[in-house]
Amino acid sequence: MSSFSSTSVDPIAEQRPHASVRVFELHGPGAIAVAHRPLPAAGALMRVETTGVCGTDHHIWAGKIDVPLPQLLGHEVIGRLERLPADHALVCSSPDALAEGDRVLIAPGVPCGECAGCLGDGRCLDRPCYGLTMTGDGLTGGFSPYMQLLPGTRVFRVPEGLAPARVVFAEPMACVLSALRKAYGPRYVPAGLGGLVLGFGVIGLCSAVSIHASGGAVTVVEYDPTRRALAAQLGFATAASVEEAAELALARGGFPLVVDAAGTPAAFKSGLELLAWSGTLVEIGNFADLGEIAIKPSDICLRDLRVIGSGETFYEDFDPAIALVASTSVELARAITDVHRFDALADPSELFTVRAAGKAMVTFT
Ligand SMILES: [Zn+2]
Ligand SMILES: [Zn+2]
Repeated sequence: MSSFSSTSVDPIAEQRPHASVRVFELHGPGAIAVAHRPLPAAGALMRVETTGVCGTDHHIWAGKIDVPLPQLLGHEVIGRLERLPADHALVCSSPDALAEGDRVLIAPGVPCGECAGCLGDGRCLDRPCYGLTMTGDGLTGGFSPYMQLLPGTRVFRVPEGLAPARVVFAEPMACVLSALRKAYGPRYVPAGLGGLVLGFGVIGLCSAVSIHASGGAVTVVEYDPTRRALAAQLGFATAASVEEAAELALARGGFPLVVDAAGTPAAFKSGLELLAWSGTLVEIGNFADLGEIAIKPSDICLRDLRVIGSGETFYEDFDPAIALVASTSVELARAITDVHRFDALADPSELFTVRAAGKAMVTFT
């Protein structure tokens, strides 16, 4: 009955009775500033370890994707469960119960629980997303040392020994695996199927790793010489232009799989042209409205082409994504080109004014 043994007191609230957290708030295109938000006194809380800087963050910062303002950006978040009330209502694929201290990756989208999709097959049609669409003054983005985890949030265990430089690729990898699941089913890329990847940003890199994992040869088209050199360093064949890729396509009768991750409408058209007969174009590059391009539908019809678009990331692709970034022989850490310490970032716009050649991440420890 010692008075020192009480466990009912919330240790975080006790340490910081009126704690506020330093965050980065986006107030409009190009306008991001340091702000302070209250540390929630109740509910599940995560201490953030690493947050990836995503192309989507750049698009939002630049005003190409509309989000509610002010917004806390950051949706590629790995951390530890800091406070886990008994009624936490988080959802984890692992059969073991979640516990405080567990290292996890979050899925950015949280089902609303109310829409026709949620009430039907469970696929929420309009998931509120951490770092993208959540409003209010909560800690709902990953460029913050703590995040509140709302009921219904999906969390995925991350192995203790998995380096941040690998695990930071898991969320974009899940996006890529979902696109490949839509194209080929739950085993992703068929064994040995070679593929062409247009664009070697992080989505292109994850696409190349996925094709490589199935034993297929990968060719990357990237115009930027620094990114092209990175692709070559990681072991992928490269082409410096679509014209160069077209010569390769001609020599082999086209590519059975082209993943467009270049982020231009023109790349979509090129992707169609580079396909083999009955080939599959996976479109994941135009994830903002980047404009129009003229195509001939007869090219799709007469050559039996398939076009698979992918905007939604399925929850079942997160655990395979974590496993793939852990197991791939591609040296992912070499693709980390920018590491920012959150506490040392006096001006948060530094995260967005320069686009990293590879992957950028923010660390908190
Ligand atoms: Zn992202
Ligand atoms: Zn819903």
